[in-house]
Formats: sequence, C-alpha cells, structure tokens
Amino acid sequence: MNAFATHFRLTEEDVIIYAKDTLNLFSKRARLRSKEIGDGNINYVFRVWDEDTQESIIIKQADILLRSSGRPLDIDRSRIEAEALKQQWQLSSGFTPKVYQYDPIMCAIVMEDLSDHQLMRTALLKIQIFPLFAEHISSFLVNTLLPTTDLVMESANKKALVKKFINMDLCKISEDLVFTEPFFNHKGRNIILDENMDFVEREIYNDSELVLEASKLKHYFMNNAQALIHGDLHTGSILVKIDSTKVMDPEFAFYGPIGYDLGNVIANLFFGWANILVTKHGKEAEKFILWLEETIEQVVDLFKGKFIESYQKTVTEVSFKKENFMNWYLEDILEYTAGTTGLEIIRRVVGDSKVIDITGIEDRTARIRAERMLIMSAKRFIKERDCIITGKDYTRIFRSLYDELYLNIE
Ligand code: ADP
Ligand code: MG
Repeated sequence: MNAFATHFRLTEEDVIIYAKDTLNLFSKRARLRSKEIGDGNINYVFRVWDEDTQESIIIKQADILLRSSGRPLDIDRSRIEAEALKQQWQLSSGFTPKVYQYDPIMCAIVMEDLSDHQLMRTALLKIQIFPLFAEHISSFLVNTLLPTTDLVMESANKKALVKKFINMDLCKISEDLVFTEPFFNHKGRNIILDENMDFVEREIYNDSELVLEASKLKHYFMNNAQALIHGDLHTGSILVKIDSTKVMDPEFAFYGPIGYDLGNVIANLFFGWANILVTKHGKEAEKFILWLEETIEQVVDLFKGKFIESYQKTVTEVSFKKENFMNWYLEDILEYTAGTTGLEIIRRVVGDSKVIDITGIEDRTARIRAERMLIMSAKRFIKERDCIITGKDYTRIFRSLYDELYLNIE
C-alpha cells in the first residue's frame, strides 16, 4: 500500500522514506538525511540530502493547521504556491527555486535547494551589499507581472487564470492584517510600545483622512484582478547571494494589483534602512546606507524603465497599445505602489505581525524613534501617493523625516 495516499504531516524520518519511495531524484541506495529548517509561521520546510554525494532538495509541506497558532488554514494554498512558482520560474527565467515535482495529496512541493543563499532580511541586518539586487528584482517584477495582465493575455485565458488563483483564506489574512487591524484595532490585536501608544492614537487611529485612504486601498486590493502577483514579497521571501536573487514562498499569490508587490519590496528595504540608521555608525554603515538608498531608488526607476520597454514590445491589444493609455496605467501602478509601501510599513510597526528589523532594535529609545520615523514617512507615502512617482520621491521623504523628526525628538 502507498504510505502517502492520504495527507498527514511529515516528520524528518517520513521525508526520507517519501524521497526514496516517491521521487526519482536520488539513487535507490542513497544514504539520505533530513532536517526541518522552516522558520515561517505557516508551513514545514525540509532539507533532504545524500550523505555521500551531498546532492540536496527542499520539500515544503503544507499542513491543514497553521504551524504557529495551530488554527486551520485552507490547504489549497500549497497548490497555489506550486503553480505560482512554476509560472514565475518560466516567466522570470529562473528568479525562483525550480520546482521538481508537486504532490497534491501530501501538499508537498519538491524544489531546488537554495541553501547557498541567505534570507535578504538577515543579510541586510548584517550590512551586506548586493549590487545586483535592484536589477534582479525589477526584472522579476516586470517579467512575472506584465505578461499575466489583460494587456498581454487573451481575455478568456486570463479569466481562467484568475479562477485558478482564487486564494480566499490568504487574501483574507492580508485584508485583515495589512489594511484593517492596524488602522481600527477593533480586535485589540495591535502591538505597540507603551511609549508610542499616544503617538499611534494621534497619528493613526485619530487621523480620519489616513484611515479613509487605507480603506480605499483595501477596496482596490479586493477589486483589481490586474496580474498574478506574488502577494507577500517581503525580504523574508527573498533569498540572495552576491550574484543571485531568488524569490520564494508565493502562497499568497492571486490576481491582484501590481503595485502591491513593488510596494512590499520598497517597504521592507526601508525596515533594513531604519534599523541600520539607528543602530550602527561608522564608515561601513554609511556605505551600506548609501547603497540601500540607491537601491530603493533603482528598484522604482528600473521597474518603470523595464515596464515601459516590455510594454512597448508585448502589448498589441488595440485599446491598450497607445502610449497615453500606457502612461495612465503605469501612473496608477506607481500610485498603488506608494500606498502599499505606507501600508506595509504601518502594519509591521503597529500590527501584530512584526519584522525583526524593528523588534530587534535593542536600544529602546532608538526603536521608539525608528518607529515614529517609519510611521510618519508611511503616512506621507499613503496620503501623497499620487505624487510619488520616482525612486527619489521615496528617499527624499524618508531622509527629510530622519533629519527633521528623528534628530529633534525629545
Ligand atoms: P513559510 O511558508 O512557512 O513562510 P518559507 O517558504 O518562507 O515558509 O520557508 C521557510 C524557510 O525555509 C525560509 O526562510 C528559508 O530559510 C527556507 N527555505 C524555503 N525554501 C527554500 C529553498 N528552496 N532553498 C533553501 N531554503 C529554503
Ligand atoms: Mg515565509
């Protein structure tokens, strides 16, 4: 009888049997070892390797219960992740781990082992510079997003893809945690430093203009099946080494707004920047900050340049190929990008899903200041989003708040 005919949660021992019995990737006599290396809140990630040849693979399994809280979560997320990974691999020419096999019963994605890379979030906190990152991520975004829109795809094919990537449970998580709870705190789940309580009350909950803009951005997120987006493109979903960038973990993928992916990348670069600004001094830190600032600018500007280039080559549909439509479309993406950047910053500072770039700032005064600086820049990204269209628009706002607010806070 096939031991893997019905779904159950795999152990380190099970994955070795699973690899031997169901995959054609190792020799039958291979001495396999395994280790669970997952660090996320949701799934289980196993590294499996051959003791003799050191060949290795990753097996990522989704369980019916969330890894962190144990609450149920639709297991179809695993299919969505596998299909999105395959599609992004093809469209981006290898900016994701390669999927070797997907098992819809065990909800197991068997993929390329990228253990020679490290998480971008971790690398940034170690002040490491990746000169090709902006080039790589802008190519990944343009090449995976534009070809999945109505501008390039045949109308019926696109609608079929929208259907295939309906991702109810995971979209609901984003709707709640990114767009709603940080602004309303109606479930009392926000986590705020005592010293920043009054500040958040005043600058977020009581800023009715800001709350209205967040609600508009949420509505757009729920009603804009623009492209097959990654849906959770933070620096913990990106693996890097000096000459390589790989985007993983697209289980939040669905048909949504392009600017949501780009805005998430920018916001998460700001977390690294804020951390180093308030925790490190000296030549090395200065050099790093300069690189990060340039990178944020380039991510936006390279995205725009590559988007226009690709648009002019691939959009032939009669209603969409004119330059004035392209300009309108790109402006709309950039506006949503700035809005998303602000939302992602606020939700990570105020909401209950934090990032180590901020929570890891040990000096309390420095953390309070970093959080205020981030919140104030996020508010401007949201409210002034129709005027934030170049990379410099982002860094100028962040820099000016550092100079005016951070340096002057009592
Ligand atoms: P989750 O869905 O639970 O967030 P992730 O896909 O983010 O899981 O994976 C958790 C961790 O496992 C990653 O942070 C990374 O360290 C490791 N990992 C995931 N996929 C790979 C891979 N293909 N190669 C190497 N490490 C990986
Ligand atoms: Mg993850």
